[in-house]
Amino acid sequence: MRLFQRMDGRVLTGILVALSLGISLCVPVRKVQAAASRVSLLCVETVWCDVARQIGGEHLETQVLLTAPGLDPHHFQPSPSLWRSVGQVDGFLVNGATYDDWALSFNQGKTDFLNAAVIGHWRTGEDPHLFFDPAIVKAVAVKLADWLGEKAPQDRNFYQNNLARFENSLNELDKKLILFRQRYQGLPIAITEPAGERLLSRTGLELIDKHWALSVMNQTGVSARETASLEQSVEKRQIHALIVNPLVKSTQINRLLDLAAQKQIPLVMIQESLPSGLKWQDWMSQILDQLFSALDQKR
Ligand SMILES: [Zn+2]
Repeated sequence: MRLFQRMDGRVLTGILVALSLGISLCVPVRKVQAAASRVSLLCVETVWCDVARQIGGEHLETQVLLTAPGLDPHHFQPSPSLWRSVGQVDGFLVNGATYDDWALSFNQGKTDFLNAAVIGHWRTGEDPHLFFDPAIVKAVAVKLADWLGEKAPQDRNFYQNNLARFENSLNELDKKLILFRQRYQGLPIAITEPAGERLLSRTGLELIDKHWALSVMNQTGVSARETASLEQSVEKRQIHALIVNPLVKSTQINRLLDLAAQKQIPLVMIQESLPSGLKWQDWMSQILDQLFSALDQKR
């Protein structure tokens, strides 16, 4: 039995049904048609295509590969039919950083690759959830505006104006992060998987179990000593919130959740994919708001 169950029951049941019906597993590609589309972009994750749409507006047509909730890019295996469902696209935006490296096998002669890990100077071993990092998201937005300007020079101003608007919205997020640091600097919290860590690291809060969470993500097995010390922090109510990735489950995580409930430590859910109906900056802002109220609860 695998220690870490990374799919929820619903997704697993769906897959089992598909297998029993002899249907090959392939994820439907969501295609968004834009009225005056000139440039087309494929993304692995919805969140990156959201950023791209904010820059490309109606002049960009986007397709997302992984749209079903509960699909885990870390351990996804594409079927040949998935690639066949993708038409000719001008660009392919991937997260990279081992998060969705299976996507790098996509090979379509004329398609430009945009890799957030390369753009954001990610280094081996670092947290791969790059879309939680406002600085990397900003760098990708700048790159997108440049790339779009090369593909459609007549619309260069349009893209640059959208980029300026996007950068302004980052300033709003920055203001919230400054407030956070003023209020909660150094307050200890814990996390079950690194999703969200890059945003949290800007709040000034102290993440006490970074290494433990990284071991959970990499499925390398968590150390008993680290687990015990983490449990003790919950037991003694030393942490002010427990950040939970609902996609990742294990016996150790379940025990932590039980302990947190007993000790009335507030939980904050951070999922790995953009919640539907939200823009990237709204998602980040919502996470911070939830964290604000959780920390107030504990005090
Ligand atoms: Zn993850």
